[in-house]
Amino acid sequence: MTGSHNGAVDDQFASAAELWAGLDEPWREAFRQAWEALQSGTIAVGACASSADGSIVSSARNRVFDSDGPHGEIFGSSLAHAEMNVLAKLEFHRHSNLVLTTTLEPCLQCAAAIRLGPIATVRFAGRDAYWDGCHDFGKLSAREAGRTQAVRIGPSRNELGVFGTLIARFGPRRSPRFERRLRAIGDGPVIDLVDELESTDEKDRVVDLEVDQAIAYLWPRLRKLAAT
Ligand SMILES: [Zn+2]
Repeated sequence: MTGSHNGAVDDQFASAAELWAGLDEPWREAFRQAWEALQSGTIAVGACASSADGSIVSSARNRVFDSDGPHGEIFGSSLAHAEMNVLAKLEFHRHSNLVLTTTLEPCLQCAAAIRLGPIATVRFAGRDAYWDGCHDFGKLSAREAGRTQAVRIGPSRNELGVFGTLIARFGPRRSPRFERRLRAIGDGPVIDLVDELESTDEKDRVVDLEVDQAIAYLWPRLRKLAAT
C-alpha cells in the first residue's frame, strides 16, 4: 500500500501515522483494547485509567459477548462495558484523581460508575449520540449539583473520533430497531459506512489489520465523515 508512485496513498498513511504518533500512551492503549474487542467478536470499545503522569493503572475492553474474562472483570452481560471493567479492577480507596480514557462516549451506566470511581477527568474519542447528555448528575439532586463533577474532554471532532464511533457500530448483532434509533439521532453516515464495509469482505480485511493500520486504511472515509 505504499510506494512513491501513489502520492495520495502515501499522504494518507503519513497523516494517519502522524495522528497515531501524536497520541499519548493511554489513548493508544484504549484503542488497542477496542481493537481486541472487535477482533474477539464483541462491541469495539476500549478504555484505560491513568495517573496524572500518564502511567496506566488499569485497562480493559468491552466483554458483553464474551463467555470468559480475566479475574476481576465482568463478562457476558450488559454490565460488561470497557469502562466498567477498568473501574472494577481499581482497588477501593487506593486511587484518586485518575484520568479515564475511552474510545466512545460513556453510556449512562458507565457515567454513573465513573461518578462513583476515583476519576477526575474523562476523555473520550467517539461521540455516542444514543447516550449523549446522560452524564450530568447535577440535575438529579441538590447534593450532586453541589459536587465537583469530572472534567469531560470529548468527543474528538477529528478522524479518531469518527473511528471511535464507527468501530463501536460494527457487528452483525446490531438490531434493526437499534439501527433505526441510531439513524434517527444522526448516526446515519456512520451506519452507512459500517454497511459499506460489512457488505463485502472489506470489514474482515480491516479487522485483520493492527488498529493503527486500520485507521490509515480507512483514513479518506474517516476524513470525509469528520468534515460533515
Ligand atoms: Zn458503558
